[in-house]
Amino acid sequence: MSEVILRTDGVKMHFPVTAGIFKHQVGVVKAVDDIGVELKRNETFALVGESGSGKTTLAKAIFRLYKPTAGHIWFEGTDISGLDDLKLKPFRRQIQMVYQDPTSSLNPRKRLKEIIEEPLIVHGFRNPDQRLRRVRELLEMVELPPEFLWRYPHNLSGGQRQRVGVARALALQPKLLILDEPTSALDVSVQAKIIGLLRKLQKELGLTYLFITHDLSLVRNFADRVGVMYLGHLVEVAPAAELYTNPRHPYTRALLSTIPTVHASEQDMLPERTPLKGEIPSPAYQPSGCPFHPRCPLAMPQCIVEMPQMDAVAPAVQVRCHLYGDSV
Ligand code: SF4
Repeated sequence: MSEVILRTDGVKMHFPVTAGIFKHQVGVVKAVDDIGVELKRNETFALVGESGSGKTTLAKAIFRLYKPTAGHIWFEGTDISGLDDLKLKPFRRQIQMVYQDPTSSLNPRKRLKEIIEEPLIVHGFRNPDQRLRRVRELLEMVELPPEFLWRYPHNLSGGQRQRVGVARALALQPKLLILDEPTSALDVSVQAKIIGLLRKLQKELGLTYLFITHDLSLVRNFADRVGVMYLGHLVEVAPAAELYTNPRHPYTRALLSTIPTVHASEQDMLPERTPLKGEIPSPAYQPSGCPFHPRCPLAMPQCIVEMPQMDAVAPAVQVRCHLYGDSV
């Protein structure tokens, strides 16, 4: 599991803020700022954080829906951050995305056969019989019956629609799947089935997952490693088990302390409840120093003026916090 399939280096996604009829630039939204992260082949790497932390924007930059403002994205050793559409085409087959809302991501006027075979047509699979065979295979992979080929999305339940989203994402045999909150629109019992399906497919097909979620209770049993994002910055990266038993960054501790638990024994494993103060600020108005300082219960004078670096604090654990900077 140690081979790196994807690496980002200093990735930034900044969006100009304009005003007036001449659209003068009056500011900049730093949605993603200086992200360096590595995904290992066959692992599930979860990106977590509140809404507005920049995780979906980072995922879209990796998927190259956005061209990064700065930095590099290496996929299997090739820098794809600056490639034009033509040169990106082979990489588009390798990296696919499953979206949050299966209802809006499937064309309601098309039958499942057309929806699932669309990426095959776009990528030049001309033989209709071969395409039909592949669509049948994909339906089987996501555990939907073959007669569903001729159904429309509105004939399916939410869980079935998300299975179709997964089938379409797998059509081109990608190596990396970006799962953008794939279960957040589903009931809890359906969520568990989709997670079970994703686990099975990962094992069978050797997939790597980048799993975007705000639901930390899901990550615990699904992810191998976790990256915690706050206001466009990574603030902690750790193996999932380590993050849950020994969260270091004050923001990670606050996020974990909000997870609802059923058993008292589970509650004992989580940090003491330290609810987050206030709301995440707009990325257009980033606080000085450590961006978390206005909400941090442990903030020190240094935190107001100096941005902490990402430091290795234990094997495979990195934290961006002045509390740990000198302890390496
Ligand atoms: Fe809190 Fe300071 Fe650490 Fe930021 S650097 S998380 S403000 S202690």
